[in-house]
Amino acid sequence: MIATAADIRGIGFTSQRTRDRMVERLEHNGISHPDVLDVFGRVPRHLFVDDMLQTRAYEDVSLPIGEGQTISRPWVVARMTEILLEDGPVSRVLEVGTGSGYQAAILSELVDSVFSVERIRMLHERARRLFKALDYRNVHTRHSDGGWGWGSQGPFDGIVVTAAPERVPAPLLDQLAIGGRLVCPVGTRRGKQSLTVITRTRSGFTERNESDVTFVPFLSGKS
Ligand code: SAH
Repeated sequence: MIATAADIRGIGFTSQRTRDRMVERLEHNGISHPDVLDVFGRVPRHLFVDDMLQTRAYEDVSLPIGEGQTISRPWVVARMTEILLEDGPVSRVLEVGTGSGYQAAILSELVDSVFSVERIRMLHERARRLFKALDYRNVHTRHSDGGWGWGSQGPFDGIVVTAAPERVPAPLLDQLAIGGRLVCPVGTRRGKQSLTVITRTRSGFTERNESDVTFVPFLSGKS
């Protein structure tokens, strides 16, 4: 796949004006980090969804991406990103659940390196091709069960989990750097998962709950 400048820019429902309106809505709904808002105005979300759904790419909705998975709502992606950056610049981030690749693309413009793992081969490969076509060189991907993290690349200053486990997998906590932050939807009930934020301190971990969210389930193993 080759993404031309015109593909990236978009027209009509995928144009810069449509992206700008999405950014205004994010701001209206409480997203305030200027760098995060700026990046949402630049990353072409329409290229991360099916051709058939491109006209809906800048609505604040989750959309199907195949294999029973979804690309998260822009607001949720923005909020999770903002939480990761709360204490200032972040260098290395692990994402569990590459999916469409949109969250990783957003992060790649805000941190030094993104390591993103996906358990479904088709999604992993499609995202990898897209990162190449769009020249996101600091995004590294792997087809694996993210419950084990990515030990050889850790520790991470930030970890973002984009599928909901019953509880946060222990290897992810182990791979969090001191001062690092993990954001993960926790729980198995639809719409009743709690966006959990865990910070590693010198003496252990602190935890807070942000809001109720809806994510696809976190599953073990590869497919
Ligand atoms: N961040 C993605 C969201 C995709 S939905 C985006 O921006 O589009 C969540 C993804 O997590 C799905 O693709 C699902 O297959 C994946 N997933 C679920 N459990 C996983 C696991 N244990 N390891 C890796 N990926 C997982």
